[in-house]
Amino acid sequence: MKGLYDNEMKLEFLSKTNNEAFARITVAAFVSQLDPTIDELSDIKTAVSEAVTNSIIHGYEEEEGIVRVVSRIFGNSVEIEISDNGKGIANVEEARKPLYTSKPNLERSGMGFTIMESFMDDVKVESALGLGTKITMRKRISGSQELRLRQEQICEG
Ligand code: ATP
Ligand code: MG
Repeated sequence: MKGLYDNEMKLEFLSKTNNEAFARITVAAFVSQLDPTIDELSDIKTAVSEAVTNSIIHGYEEEEGIVRVVSRIFGNSVEIEISDNGKGIANVEEARKPLYTSKPNLERSGMGFTIMESFMDDVKVESALGLGTKITMRKRISGSQELRLRQEQICEG
């Protein structure tokens, strides 16, 4: 039976800072099948990087834990879930505000959620204190390069 999505991948790794690049590059490779523009790919990598860094730095702090990434493709849209079983967020509304950070001493600017929101079409945050946090982001990809080229040719006559 065909699922609701066209494709799916799952990734689990330890909450080590080194794995942030691994996660961002792996998601980018998965999304490449939608033939995104360089800008779209760069937006997705930045958003993934912010969410994964949050799980590592805020979710698990000094402890070691597992960060999970699930990505699905629905038509020409991609959904990316990034979750941890870390400390959770007490007040999600406050945490999402631009410039809000619980770690100003660690040179954090409090812009992670704002960046995710501006680069992705939709960002959902689910969190429970002591249980963890799950971020679900979606972005529509503008279509295949081949199609864009053909459209450009048509526009140019
Ligand atoms: P920046 O991302 O600019 O370095 P920041 O991480 O503090 O700074 P945001 O990414 O916007 O800013 O996150 C805001 C706040 O939400 C964090 O300071 C933290 O308190 C909380 N937070 C975000 N993600 C998590 C998470 N996975 N687990 C626990 N707390 C989180
Ligand atoms: Mg952050």
